[in-house]
This record gives sequence, C-alpha cells and structure tokens, in this order.
Amino acid sequence: MSGNWKMYKTPAETIAFFEKFRPLVEKSEHCEIVICPPFTNLAGAVDAVKGSHIRIGAQNIGWAREGAFTGEISGPKLNAVGVTHAIIGHSERRQYFGETDESVLKRTQAALEWGVLPIVCIGERLEEREGGTTEAVLASQFQKGIAGLSEQQFARIVIAYEPVWAIGTGKTATPDIAADAHRTIRAQVRGKFGKDAGDAIRILYGGSVSPENVKTLMAQPEIDGVLVGGKSLDAPAFASIVNF
Ligand code: PEP
Repeated sequence: MSGNWKMYKTPAETIAFFEKFRPLVEKSEHCEIVICPPFTNLAGAVDAVKGSHIRIGAQNIGWAREGAFTGEISGPKLNAVGVTHAIIGHSERRQYFGETDESVLKRTQAALEWGVLPIVCIGERLEEREGGTTEAVLASQFQKGIAGLSEQQFARIVIAYEPVWAIGTGKTATPDIAADAHRTIRAQVRGKFGKDAGDAIRILYGGSVSPENVKTLMAQPEIDGVLVGGKSLDAPAFASIVNF
C-alpha cells in the first residue's frame, strides 16, 4: 500500500503526519507500506518511521551515479538517507516533464543497481481509452520501457497501473476495468519473461483510491495493492485504506 505525496507537505507537516499515522498502522502486518514524500522530507520521514514497518520512497530517481545532472537525485544519495523505494514514470512526470519509456527504463535500471525498489507506473490517457487503444498503449509502454530489463532485474520491480484519467480526478476505474488492464499487463509480462514472472509480478492500481472504494478494488485477485495520491496525505484516510 503506497502513498504518493506529490508536491505536498513541509518537513514539519511530515513529522506531524507520522505521529498520527504510525499508531494507526502499528498492527497492519498484512502488507508493506511505502510513503513517498517530496525529496526535502525524505531524511525526516525515514527518521520518523524508524522502528516501524513503514518504508520511505522517492518520487523519482536519477539514472546516473553522480555528475552534471542539475535537479536530479541519484540512487546513492537516496540510499544514504535510508530511502528504499522510488516511483518511476508517474504520468505527471511523463505529461509535464518529458519522461519517456526509455528514460523510465534507465531510471529503473539505476534504481535496481542501487538497491532501491522501483514502482514503475504505466497507464493510458482518457482519449486513448475512449479511442479503444488502451491495450496497445499499455503494451507499448511495457515493450519500450521495462521489457528492456533482464529477467533477474524484472523480478525485483513493482508495476503500478495508473489510468491517467483516474488520477486526481475522483473518477476511479471500476474494479473490472482495473482488473482487465492488470490482465493485459500480466499477459505482456508472460510473453516477455515467462509464466512464472507473470504470476509473480505485483501490480498496484492507482487512480482516486479512497477509503470508500479500496475494498472492492482489493477484492479483485488481479490487484495486489494500491498507489494512492490525494488520500495518502491524510493520516486517518490513508490508514483506513491500509487497513481496508
Ligand atoms: C497518484 O498520484 O499516483 C494518484 C493515483 O493520485 P490520486 O490517488 O490522487 O488519484
């Protein structure tokens, strides 16, 4: 169960969040919990979750070790502050900051090299769904991006299916729509990496997940977890998603 805080919360607000959130998920051992705050709050967040099973992720990761890459943060820097996960290829990065399937692959390879677990996002835009090209879009994002990993690398990633039209809009994919898309992704994985990899890959659903709809989404065997934006900013709301 993962939370993406996007460009929200100060370091002080981060500490206040975890003071409220930690006791609410103390007994939630049925799942892994990852929260991805802005870069400026990562070290404070790692400190704030010490001794709990909550893990802290970044919202992006550079592909180089170090060098002249203004504005990028690399795996070794994330490692140094105790970050264990990174969201890669979020649709907001693709839409506003020129992220491509190729750069997603490079970032994913770098994350794995530095022991950071990648949560790789793919998903179709509204016009693509309405135009009937969802399957082709998901296949293309997969083939041009993470299909370039080795089998061993692929075994260590998590995929998040995030239909762009459902992110931050209050419009959730129905459980059937989400499960269908997950099946498409799993079929791609089987085709490239074999049946076992297709069975084993964890696929999260993301897009307006809330305490009200999480149960029906998670009832789909195809859905292994969720990536939550807006509702992860509120400790009780995100705790009730975790404890669905
Ligand atoms: C996200 O940021 O990945 C996301 C799914 O946002 P929201 O839950 O607000 O739709």
